[in-house]
Amino acid sequence: MFGKTKEQFNTVQEIDTLIRAGIDLGASDIHIEPFEDFIRVRLRIDGTLTKFSVLPIAKRDEITAILKVMAGLDSTQKRQSQDGKIKFAYLDMFVEIRISVLPFKYGEKIVLRIQNTERIDLNIDNLGINENCLINFKKSITSKQGLILITGSTGTGKTTTVYSALNYIRSDELNIVTLEDPIEYEIPGFIQIQLSKELNMNYADILRAVLRQDPDILVIGEIRDTETAKVAIGAALTGHLIIASLHTNDSIDTIVRLREMGIEAYLIAAALKFISYQILLRILCPTCKRPSTPNPEHIAMFNLPEDAKVFTSQGCKHCNNTGFKGRKPVFEILIIDEEIIDILATTTTGYNLKKKLKHRIQSNLFIETKKQILAGVTSCTEAAKQLM
Ligand SMILES: [Zn+2]
Repeated sequence: MFGKTKEQFNTVQEIDTLIRAGIDLGASDIHIEPFEDFIRVRLRIDGTLTKFSVLPIAKRDEITAILKVMAGLDSTQKRQSQDGKIKFAYLDMFVEIRISVLPFKYGEKIVLRIQNTERIDLNIDNLGINENCLINFKKSITSKQGLILITGSTGTGKTTTVYSALNYIRSDELNIVTLEDPIEYEIPGFIQIQLSKELNMNYADILRAVLRQDPDILVIGEIRDTETAKVAIGAALTGHLIIASLHTNDSIDTIVRLREMGIEAYLIAAALKFISYQILLRILCPTCKRPSTPNPEHIAMFNLPEDAKVFTSQGCKHCNNTGFKGRKPVFEILIIDEEIIDILATTTTGYNLKKKLKHRIQSNLFIETKKQILAGVTSCTEAAKQLM
């Protein structure tokens, strides 16, 4: 490279190799952390951080400076956090990488967030929803109006579920608008609105403005407050299909949350069509997974037969020694039928609601997870961890 010493050239190459390895392994983040005597490099793959390599501490300033230059940041500024973007040439495309630099005790910690490296499959049939629920999900998302709630914790693939639904119903005849923060995937044909501080409007105001533009289908990134919930329910009852995310602990808890936000029971009953709650299970690496027998704790926990054939993995070079490659969602689903509408409209307390709806769940998280264990998709340990 022109104007650089041999040493600098090597460091540039090392950084290039590191980013390339991160993309190859499907990492979402690369953490570069200087300590007293070394630099630790870790990758987040399938949601879990794993150690990738150790670099000599002598390279610390050079690595930081090169990455800052690549992202157009001020390389002389070492006492303030900085954020930027790198467009990284990879195969025949550019991968967008967001960089965040944060000063701390031993220098500057750098996190590179790689955008969209996980292969995104937006085929609704591949989500893994059981057959009966899938038929119902498709029916709900092709309704002219109503509220569909896709719930789960942060980082459990709710966005993929929402986009798979949109991908299924997309058509030139429909006005589909999404409100997101941030926009995780850009999909041609949808009006995706990035919510940002610069917009200087609150969520409910933006929602009202969007509703005046006559959307057929509106995706609400997250219902965070009462006002947004009220506008969303109102819209769902007046000719719009609303698909929204909510941060809750299970599908029934979602209804309780809406009530706690002050939404009337009869309005929830009239608007709601479908609720899902999801978790993500890591998939055992196909190269190193091996048959195994379940331990007594797992036999009890998942109600497994004593001679059940389960699988485990040791880790190998194909999975960066994590034992896993990729993730898949598992769903709890509550389909709102006539009887449930009745329960929703007439049950007064959250406690009674939970008691009455518990046996109405059509896709049980526990049973669906057990199926994945017995099919060798995931291990007992991983399943137990994600269900906790
Ligand atoms: Zn492996």
